[in-house]
Order: sequence, then structure tokens, then C-alpha cells
Amino acid sequence: MKAHSTEGDERLPDSADSAATLDPEEQLDPAALERTQLTRLRAKLDPVLKGNDFYRNKLASAGVGTAADLTRLDDLARLPFTTKDELLDDQAQTPPYGTLPTFPPERYVQEHHTSGTSGQGLRWLDTAESWDWMAKCWARVLRAAGVTRADRVFFPFSFGPFVGVWSGVEGARRVGCLVLPGGGKDSLQRVKAIMADRPTVMVCTPTYALRLAEVAAEAGIDLRGSALRVTIHPGEPGASLPATKARLAEAFGAAVFDHAGATEVGAWGFECHAQDGVHFNEAEYIFEVVDPVTGAPAQEGELVVTNLGRVGMPAIRYRTGDFGRLHDRPCACGSRYRRLAGGVLGRLDQKVIARGVEFYPSGVENVVRGHRETGEFAVDLYRRGSRDEVEVRVELGGGDTDARTARIARALRETLGLRVDVRAVPAGTLPRFPVKARRVTDHRALG
Ligand SMILES: [Zn+2]
Repeated sequence: MKAHSTEGDERLPDSADSAATLDPEEQLDPAALERTQLTRLRAKLDPVLKGNDFYRNKLASAGVGTAADLTRLDDLARLPFTTKDELLDDQAQTPPYGTLPTFPPERYVQEHHTSGTSGQGLRWLDTAESWDWMAKCWARVLRAAGVTRADRVFFPFSFGPFVGVWSGVEGARRVGCLVLPGGGKDSLQRVKAIMADRPTVMVCTPTYALRLAEVAAEAGIDLRGSALRVTIHPGEPGASLPATKARLAEAFGAAVFDHAGATEVGAWGFECHAQDGVHFNEAEYIFEVVDPVTGAPAQEGELVVTNLGRVGMPAIRYRTGDFGRLHDRPCACGSRYRRLAGGVLGRLDQKVIARGVEFYPSGVENVVRGHRETGEFAVDLYRRGSRDEVEVRVELGGGDTDARTARIARALRETLGLRVDVRAVPAGTLPRFPVKARRVTDHRALG
């Protein structure tokens, strides 16, 4: 791993001289942690129940009129879930922000949008206090990856309306890092910036990091010669997939960390140096994993999140749409925060069901990236007669593609429990993605 120097004697609040040490909350036993969470939740509910029409009405329907009505953390389960559709509906009925803002408009300092797969996404507002809390959560992600104020953090990303890059920058500033914005550049210019400006940390989706690696290779630039020592990857499951993690580590010569979050709730998950799943930030959030159909607690299912510090536009029992499995062992890092084994496995709305078998695109990705000289891939679903067919097209460099496609097909069958047709296509012929990838096309609904 590449080294970097530490210098200067100014101290900042989140300066990670203590990068490897745990937060006090991480060392609490579960009962003590729950007491802390309940106290925080009740403190948040006071202003929310006063000013927030959306949650005042919603919680009233569950018989909760004041924060004092919650006497135990288990009482949270009495409250109804919040869904994205519900919030979109609320914003459509009461444009532009719906009834979710807790405070009058002049209190807010930031507006962001979710991407929205069909039409307008959600608008989200933050007050100065909520935005500070967002930065605090992101700082936790950076510190968990060993980032300190001596680091220089590169964001190869255009600064559009998505919250992730802005809050990431705030987090980096809170740690005391130097921030290097990488917007307004094409991929080759970003590769050159990595070599010339010597960032030590990079934050971007795993898909885009692999794209940068590809562009660098085409230009004959070896990114292992850069100063990057840590890369952090939000937005997609990739950095927790062993094959993708290994590929990123090899391309950049850096330690690769997963990170999970969402506009609606903030930066909730981080990977520690033990690199065995994604930790919940349980100081700042309450987490539930539920059966997506019944809503009952489950070991594996949909992640439901309540944030504790974003009073301006809060999320209470928010159904994230992220699917994951609770890890059943304590983490070697010593944190008592629970975590998702293998991170977020996928988005529920991206789950593929073919011939009765369910899988996520991440399952295909880990297999494809586990084979050498594979580039982008695409998954197509067809219905032929009454039968679902799954075809995976993979960019293959080098020779003997027949033997290699057969090996990938065999590995996919073993992993997914489903026969998959694998077809080799020339390198560079499948779509590239500037942020998150969309690799699955379902042709069945069209036929
Ligand atoms: Zn850990």
C-alpha cells in the first residue's frame, strides 16, 4: 500500500488522527445503543411533530402524537413505513417540496434531486444543521477507510443535482482533506488529473472507476503509479463484490472500500478496514431489515432506515429498496455496529426473476469480473415460447473465446442456479456508464 505523510499541527473536530479508533457508540452493548437511539429519536420527533405535516399526519394514524408516546425502541415498529412512491405523490400534490419539510422555506440551504427512473425524481431540502449532519455521516465513511486530513480527495464527477458528491465533499472538508473537484472533464482528462494532481483518495461509482481504469489502459497510463491509496465507491454494490473489488485494487494499486447511502436518508453505511461487509452507522440511524412482502423483521430482506439527525426533511422507517443480508458474526474491527454481509446486494426493483430463480445483477457481475480480460457485460431477458431465456453478453479480449464463454456460463450456472447463454462480443462495443450502470434489459414485457 502506498504511504503518505502527515504534517501540520492544526486540529479539526473530525481530523482522523484517530482513523482506526472506534466511535463511543460503536462500543456500546445493544441495549445501551438502543437507549441512545431512542433518546435521539425522541429529540428529533419533537420538532418534526410540531412543524412537519407529512409525519404529524402519518404518526397520528399510528396513535403517536408526541415523542413521549415512544417509550421503547420497539415502539418504532408501530409506526407505518414511508415509501418513495408516497413521497413522490406528496410532492406532486403539494409542489415543489410536498408536506415533508419541517421548517419554513427560509431555513433551508441546499436542494438536491434523486435521479428518478421515470420522470421527476424526489426533491430533497437540507437546513444548515441537517447538512452538517450529512457531512458528519460522510466523514464517518472516510475515516473508516483510513482517510485523514493529510489526504487529497478527488471526485471524478460532475456536480449536478445528486446529493452524493456534494455531501461527500462536505465530509472530506470536515475531515480536513484537500478536495479536488473532477467535474467538467472527460474520462481521459480525469485520468491525467489523477496522475498530475496526485490525489490520494478517489470517490466514484465502481462502474465509473473501472471505466477510468479502461481509459487509462488504452492511453498507456498505469494508475498504479498514481498517489491513490484509497478508493471509495458509492452508488452500486460493486466494491463489496470480491471480483470487482480485486479488479479495482489491481487497477489503482489502492485499498478499495464500499459505501452505501441514499438521497432520502444520507450516507448510512461504511466499510471498515476489516473489509467484511458494510457497517450500519448506528449512532446516526436506526436500521431494520424486513421481508419485502410482509414487512416482518428478517435476516435477509429490504433495508428500512430511520435517520436521527436530519430534522429538516426527515426519514422515518423509510423503505430504501436496498436488499441485503445481516452478517451473523461480529466484525474483526471491534465495532459493535451491525453490518450487511457483502454490502447491499442489489435494488429490489432490479431483481431479476427468470424461470422461478431470483438474482441481482451484482451476482452476474461478480462472476464476469472474476474471469480475466472481461470488459463490460449486458444481461438480456427473453421469453421464447413459455420459457425465460437469460443471455449474458460479455466483452472478451484475447483469444479462444469459446472456451472462456463456456467457463463463464458454467460459473454463472453454479452461482445463480440457472442456465445462462453467454456470448462473447468485441471489447469496447457495449455501453459505458458515466455514473451508475444499467446492464439488464428485460425484453419479455415487450413481446
Ligand atoms: Zn468492521
